[in-house]
Amino acid sequence: MNLANRVAIITGSGRGIGKAIALRLAETGATVVVNDIDESAQGVAEEIKAMNRQSLAILADVSLSSDVARLVETTRATYGKIDILVNNAGITRDQLVVRMSDEDWDRVLTVNLKSTFLCTRAVLRHMIKQRWGRIISIASIVGIVGNPGQANYASAKAGIIGFTRTVAKEVASRGITVNAIAPGFIDTEMTQQLGEDRRQELMRHIPLGYLGSPRDVAEAVAFLASEEARYITGQVLNVDGGMAEAWL
Ligand code: NAP
Repeated sequence: MNLANRVAIITGSGRGIGKAIALRLAETGATVVVNDIDESAQGVAEEIKAMNRQSLAILADVSLSSDVARLVETTRATYGKIDILVNNAGITRDQLVVRMSDEDWDRVLTVNLKSTFLCTRAVLRHMIKQRWGRIISIASIVGIVGNPGQANYASAKAGIIGFTRTVAKEVASRGITVNAIAPGFIDTEMTQQLGEDRRQELMRHIPLGYLGSPRDVAEAVAFLASEEARYITGQVLNVDGGMAEAWL
């Protein structure tokens, strides 16, 4: 795979899966805009520059329309185009439905799902004109199989899947592919917050018998972003060690 001359925006890429995606796309030659809500984006952009690739850190809250406009416009003004968008930023606020607050519902839907809509809409205006684009959104197998305590998160991730299938149909004639990746249980700070009992219980549902790494997700993103994946659109690719199939 060769992403030379491609410009990519990765949301929430200051750490975890997003950081692994940013580094992997840079390895394959892409210019990478590292977005995060905090300063962590800067360190990742420095790592990429040390690989002799172009990179820019843009601090922005992707749940806010004005921040997304700044993220996309700064990218276009700096590099002249946007070829690849990876909607990766996400949060959890777990609670059983009967105890879930309005705020926890709204924040999880806004950061995971609304951000995907805002960023996709903003980049599509440029991708449609250039008649080439790749949009890859990080959903979750929880959006397919459900998970107690994550009604807000599962709804947001299921929403990303419906959004992906719809936008894929809307822009297919413009040379733009739109796909989602549904990771299973990946070893990041998000899952390190889970207690040891819960981690062991989830491990029992993984046929391959071990947690995925952020790099496993990044490899799938790099493929979907490549020219080689030009005939794949509207799909959800599970990167989960077989977990969703075993859990259904
Ligand atoms: P993570 O380690 O918590 O990283 C998420 C990143 O998103 C953080 O850098 C975070 O910034 C950033 N972020 C949060 N809100 C943001 C906002 N409003 N604007 C911009 N950036 C924001 O999570 P992860 O495990 O790498 O997960 C990445 C994606 O994969 C998420 O969409 C998640 O739902 C999905 N996923 C993860 C797993 C898993 O097992 N880990 C499984 C399925 C799906 P801060 O550092 O400031 O918090």
